[in-house]
Amino acid sequence: MVRDVLSILIDREKIAGRVRALGRELAADLEAELRRDNAGRDAAEDAGRVVFVPILTGALIFTADLVRELPLKLSLRVVAVSSYPGTSVESKGAKLAGELPRDLAGKHVVVVDDILDSGQTLGLVEDLIRMQKPASVRVCVLLRKPESVRKRAVEARYVGFDIPNEFVVGYGLDFDGFYRNLPDICVLKDEAIRGARGQ
Ligand code: 5GP
Ligand code: MG
Repeated sequence: MVRDVLSILIDREKIAGRVRALGRELAADLEAELRRDNAGRDAAEDAGRVVFVPILTGALIFTADLVRELPLKLSLRVVAVSSYPGTSVESKGAKLAGELPRDLAGKHVVVVDDILDSGQTLGLVEDLIRMQKPASVRVCVLLRKPESVRKRAVEARYVGFDIPNEFVVGYGLDFDGFYRNLPDICVLKDEAIRGARGQ
């Protein structure tokens, strides 16, 4: 696996530092949101109205680290979207694979994904979630590619890193289902990509 890596774009220490900072930012914003909800009432400060919705499978590792930075009562409801079948390195459009979490009405929802590229994945999930009338929706991504062609406008309020328009793997991101367990965000060698395609 490691010999397929051409270079490390973002190393594990840098990721960890940024995830901690994102956690602090999210915690402060969500606590403020909950205080507004509770204004005039003496309800407990965290009544379980925060729901994190990670998009499988890419957001798995990021979300696991991120939610452990949040000292809030929250629940996790996963959603599966497929957009990169097999050995493709370009988006083929987003499709919901499986059930959408229900009962998001009145909740403060944080949608988490590994990367914002064309925007189709997050755009689809955001639309479906908003139909349930949540109290608020926030989008949090580990990576964003500012130079990629956006097929759908998505406003990610929390972004770990802006990266060049290159195909990356590691820390949850895959190529052909593999490399998610690389601890750093990496660029693969051309030959590893060609090899998987049998070229
Ligand atoms: P979008 O729908 O915004 O085009 O793409 C989002 C999804 O495409 C992400 O959840 C991710 O699975 C995949 N994706 C986009 N860019 C990359 C990349 O550079 N590397 C990997 N591994 N997946 C990517
Ligand atoms: Mg994904």
